[in-house]
Amino acid sequence: MNDTSILVIYTGGTIGMVLNPEKGTLVPFDFDNVYEQIPDLKKLHYKIDAISFDPLIDSSDINPEHWIQIAETIQTNYESYDGFVVLHGSDTMSFTASALSFILTNLNKPVVLTGSQLPLGVLRTDGRENFISAIEIAAAKEDDTPIVPEVCLYFENKLYRGNRTFKYNAENFNAFVSENYPSLASAGVYIKYYKENIHKPNFKKLKLRTKIDKSVGILKIFPGMQESFVKSVVGCKELRALVIESFGAGNAPTDPWFINAIKEAIDRGIVVVNTSQCIGGKVDMGKYETSRELKEIGVIGAKDMTTAAAITKLMFCLGEEVETKKVIKKFLLPWAGEISE
Ligand code: ASP
Repeated sequence: MNDTSILVIYTGGTIGMVLNPEKGTLVPFDFDNVYEQIPDLKKLHYKIDAISFDPLIDSSDINPEHWIQIAETIQTNYESYDGFVVLHGSDTMSFTASALSFILTNLNKPVVLTGSQLPLGVLRTDGRENFISAIEIAAAKEDDTPIVPEVCLYFENKLYRGNRTFKYNAENFNAFVSENYPSLASAGVYIKYYKENIHKPNFKKLKLRTKIDKSVGILKIFPGMQESFVKSVVGCKELRALVIESFGAGNAPTDPWFINAIKEAIDRGIVVVNTSQCIGGKVDMGKYETSRELKEIGVIGAKDMTTAAAITKLMFCLGEEVETKKVIKKFLLPWAGEISE
């Protein structure tokens, strides 16, 4: 065993399931028996410890309190480990990866999220390779410095910047894409790191952003949308920020009732952000006539941010700022490589 140490934070999800031979059913994996389940891990010669959520959860039940719990676990153990692997259900992994990238300010160690489409206990599982490669990536160093000191997501031979990912497929082992940012590494016979795409460490002390306000919403627009529906969404009393998931490069219906409903929300101090339903490219309001008025009434273009990054970032902006102008200013700054400059 060498002196590299990795902490695995096991939150739940499909990856953690193995067959209980007595019952013949899939049950959550017991980390005390990690080497029994994956004997190949021993070949890495690392010290691997694990902390499990209790109860383990399907990632559909993840909420901002869990993001803070994961981040605090990393902070508490930061000096004792070289890297961190977060085992997480894939369904909301892009939201958690985005949120962690915002919470963990001055992160100088790898935090690799991974999961799988098939449980570890199933013969054709993709979980074994995902897990072993994630550990290798979390442990990788050059000149005693971690190669990937950022929050990233590993799935089916690709390492992505976490806050740029989108789960696009419910069945493929290759379930994620990162259309607006190139991958950080790819795993074949060797793990090849694309260093020009990876954050450089800043060697400052880790700090956590923990102030969150969940008074946010997403409105995915569609042809045929009814006025009463839009009005009930923007009329929500608690709402402080709304993400409109628009068409293409930020386009939306030009019906006066739609523009007026959004304008009324902005006049009430609600921050309205425009992201695209497309998984690649960027919002460019004013390019088409169908987005000109949105720009004029004060809708904020999220450029090439994913919806997951935009909605999680807004929760932190609202948690930290009261004034609408300050929320918008903060939102448009790059925090962790989630937006192209
Ligand atoms: N429903 C599961 C989850 O997200 C799917 C998975 O683990 O990939 O927790």
